Amino acid sequence: MPEPEPTAALPQQEARYIKGVGPKRAELLAKLGVHTVRDLLLHLPRDYEDRRHARPVAALRPGSREVVRGEIVGVSFRPTRGRVRGILTVRVEDDTGSVALAWFNAGPRWRSSFPVGETITAYGTVSLYGGIQIVAPDYELGAGPSQSGKFGCIVPVYPLTEGLSQTVLRKITLAALQGAAGEMPEAVPPSLLQERGLADLRHALRAAHFPASMEEKDAARRRLAYEELFVFQTGLALRRAATKKSDGIAFRVGPNVDRRIRRLFPFPFTSAQDRVIEQVVADMRSPHPMNRLLQGDVGCGKTVVAVYAMLAALAESSKGHQAALMAPTEILAEQHYLTLMSLLDEARVRTALLTSGVEAAQRRRNLSALAAGEVGLAVGTHALIEEHVQMRNLALVVVDEQHRFGVRQRLALRRKGPQPDVLIMTATPIPRTLAMAYLADMDVSIIDEMPPGRRPVATSLFAPNEWGRAFDAARDELRAGRRAFVVYPLVEENRELDLTSAKEGYEQLRRCEFADYDCCLLHGQMPQRQKQEVMEGFRAGRYQVMAATTVVEVGIDVPEATVMIVQHADRLGLAQLHQLRGRVGRGEHRGMCFLLADPTTDEARRRLEVLTQTNDGFKIAEEDLRLRGPGQLFGTEQSGMPEFRCYDFSDTAVLRQARDDAVSLVETDPALRQPQHAALRREVLEQYGKGLALADVG
Ligand code: ADP
Ligand code: MG
Repeated sequence: MPEPEPTAALPQQEARYIKGVGPKRAELLAKLGVHTVRDLLLHLPRDYEDRRHARPVAALRPGSREVVRGEIVGVSFRPTRGRVRGILTVRVEDDTGSVALAWFNAGPRWRSSFPVGETITAYGTVSLYGGIQIVAPDYELGAGPSQSGKFGCIVPVYPLTEGLSQTVLRKITLAALQGAAGEMPEAVPPSLLQERGLADLRHALRAAHFPASMEEKDAARRRLAYEELFVFQTGLALRRAATKKSDGIAFRVGPNVDRRIRRLFPFPFTSAQDRVIEQVVADMRSPHPMNRLLQGDVGCGKTVVAVYAMLAALAESSKGHQAALMAPTEILAEQHYLTLMSLLDEARVRTALLTSGVEAAQRRRNLSALAAGEVGLAVGTHALIEEHVQMRNLALVVVDEQHRFGVRQRLALRRKGPQPDVLIMTATPIPRTLAMAYLADMDVSIIDEMPPGRRPVATSLFAPNEWGRAFDAARDELRAGRRAFVVYPLVEENRELDLTSAKEGYEQLRRCEFADYDCCLLHGQMPQRQKQEVMEGFRAGRYQVMAATTVVEVGIDVPEATVMIVQHADRLGLAQLHQLRGRVGRGEHRGMCFLLADPTTDEARRRLEVLTQTNDGFKIAEEDLRLRGPGQLFGTEQSGMPEFRCYDFSDTAVLRQARDDAVSLVETDPALRQPQHAALRREVLEQYGKGLALADVG
């Protein structure tokens, strides 16, 4: 590997200070998320090509990527009909046989670049076309050792953007490694490096980009992932410690309150509900703010826990505590409001709904009543926290159906009042690895039991030629007095088009498949009043079929609905489909989910089949994580969570180790005051100080 001149660029400097990077390339790098020298060093290869050894031509196998080396014995150029450019073929021989190197869009003068008798080394995918050939290989001429750095070593393959080539990225990365890798701050304390047997950062970076062996590469990447996770986990551990330390409200929840609340429900709680309520109550009684995530499949009865917690928070009337319940959609907020109103009929709690559907004058009255502390319970959408709603004495916040509720939003909540307790509920199971990586500052409760009598939704996958059968089965259900949803997925990139597909689908349904039934249409852009009319009509049975965009994903609760038909199911994530099917079979009759799809690949089909085979939400979520990465599942961007550069979620052991190490380090040095932790402290504050609000860490 030729070593370019060392450059003076420092890690924190802008990328344009790297040798070979000007303003134009800096702009291209920015598209890759590379702004600084440090970013470039952490822009790791997505793949590696082992070009260390040439393979004898006789041993080449079609489909594999190989290096060959031999003598050029012939060159031919054949113009493509009617054009100047054409196919260039370079024939190469070694001791074992001959191989053709081919370029399909070559200019006529290219042949002069391949002098017969010269030695050539080439790398590419071997194919069979007449004989063995390699199309458009990377190559180098000359009999000596490689001059270009492209052969005789393992070559990194980077994620690229238009206008930047692998060659350029390799060159500037090498330059950055030369100049800056030694200056990268080492956040992991030396004792820990030693204990864990980790190489120093400079060597790890070098080996992650230009490894001498695949084993060295694996160790280096693991090392970089460890450091990245360790820094973030330290941040979370500090955040957690700060939360635990800060003042919260010590609610008094005694047996009388417990009895009074339970009496409101027409059923006994499941043992899972009891267990979670116990955990929540323990948090509420403690003088530190609760920060708890409640996970449980759709229909497992999380709302019960929420209502319990809110009533418990308001129980001591002399304290004037207030509670807020936030839902992701207005429809769901209204539904929660109705549920609460019917439950709280006799519980003397003043409740206010705060959605855009509420008439303006009423909304103003609600807001001032909240500010004055006259309303105990506020129900609204997540906008409640964004819109600076004033509450006099906010003591508990419950956030429903929100797995994407990141650190940033949780902090926004905390600023609302003197450290209210926070309970976040989600039906989207969060894979253990993801929870460990991102939610280590929270306590987690899980409801893993359904209310008695609930049976899993029977799910089937239908290929296009079977769709008729799915509608037959749906009509059977409608004849028996049940109701059906037909969902048209919303594809984020094109909301207009999605809406059209739902509207057109609805027209088609009411004319053809469900011509004998009353159909309605629900989508997010409808005026609030119309939405309400449609929801009410469907609930009351005036409509039997509801065509909808994925707005029905969360929360809609209609016991008579037993059929969920999902169009273009292959466009949705598994977790989302799992949510959707949870909308049916919530009454006494078993639910059915029909996935109508036209998966174009085996992989897509297998993915959907997971849903027909299991009802285990965690399994489904793990599968989603494996297939689509954390961004899709977790909305890292919206939630203000870091997208990891080095960690790819494939290795759980390194995550566990980083977390354990961070936790025990923060236990021994809660403010990172010891001198050997100074670099770590600087890194954590620099990277996450703002995002995790670590200013109060000391
Ligand atoms: P989630 O919010 O977890 O999806 P819900 O709280 O909406 O679930 O509960 C789903 C349904 O089950 C509701 O109709 C609710 O009244 C009912 N339910 C909840 N807990 C129980 C229980 N312990 N026994 C019987 N029914 C219950
Ligand atoms: Mg719910």
